[in-house]
Amino acid sequence: MNRTVLITGASSGIGQACAWVLAKEGYRLALCARRTERLEALKQAILTDLPETEILTFTLDVRDANAVQQATDTLPADWQNIDVLINNAGLSQGLDPIQQGKLSDWDTMIDTNIKGLLYVSRAVIPLMKNSTNAHIINIGSIAGKEVYPNGNVYCATKHAVDALNKAMRIDLLEKGIRVSAIHPGMVETEFSEVRFHGDTDRAKAVYQGVEALSGQDIAEVIAFVLSRRAHININDLLIMPTAQA
Ligand code: NDP
Repeated sequence: MNRTVLITGASSGIGQACAWVLAKEGYRLALCARRTERLEALKQAILTDLPETEILTFTLDVRDANAVQQATDTLPADWQNIDVLINNAGLSQGLDPIQQGKLSDWDTMIDTNIKGLLYVSRAVIPLMKNSTNAHIINIGSIAGKEVYPNGNVYCATKHAVDALNKAMRIDLLEKGIRVSAIHPGMVETEFSEVRFHGDTDRAKAVYQGVEALSGQDIAEVIAFVLSRRAHININDLLIMPTAQA
């Protein structure tokens, strides 16, 4: 049977691109996010191009530990075996100095980027027990390797992803589950729009003068990492646009 991948934050950007790239490689797709209508549109689009693809969609807010457990507990029987988890759901909200940032934005980033990743991993790892080639991909960021002006809390959450990626690899050694972090630099997605609370002019300005990466660029690297033979664990990858300082 083809490998089954569960992708969080599949409704746009990098998550959506992973769905397309991995569908083309024959994966079965379990896709979740909060915007269900986006997931349904994605499912229909993939099925139009690749009608053989098996796709399950479900609504999930990764910040809600109970909802995460409930969602994985109630997966249909033929979706109870997961081979690959892509912990992609994440966001930045605000780009302000620490003395000005909104506390609610801090909470949203910490709850989504750190706690959400933990809740989903905890719920999905037991579903990997029958996989002979299990793999967790954690989407980090250049912000998890460096700190930039006003990036404070977002950078802290992605440094946490970097640490959790290392910790998970050690914790999961004896289960034979591979763990990889993919740390992108600038990727042109809805990320900047979310960061600037829907200010599209400010969001577009971010990409001026630099050819940013696309979601597909990242998804293709993820497909490569997943395709290595089972004894090879590419644990940590930083992918930058050539022109980004
Ligand atoms: P997008 O805004 O395009 O996608 C973010 C995805 O996360 C959406 O599908 C969104 O779905 C989902 N999401 C956000 N909050 C939640 C939540 N509480 N529960 C479930 N899903 C949620 O941005 P990207 O594709 O760029 O971002 C994907 C990942 O890549 C993030 O972790 C981000 O930090 C990281 N990254 C992005 C970079 C960039 O420059 N774009 C650079 C480095 C890392 P929905 O709103 O429907 O729930």
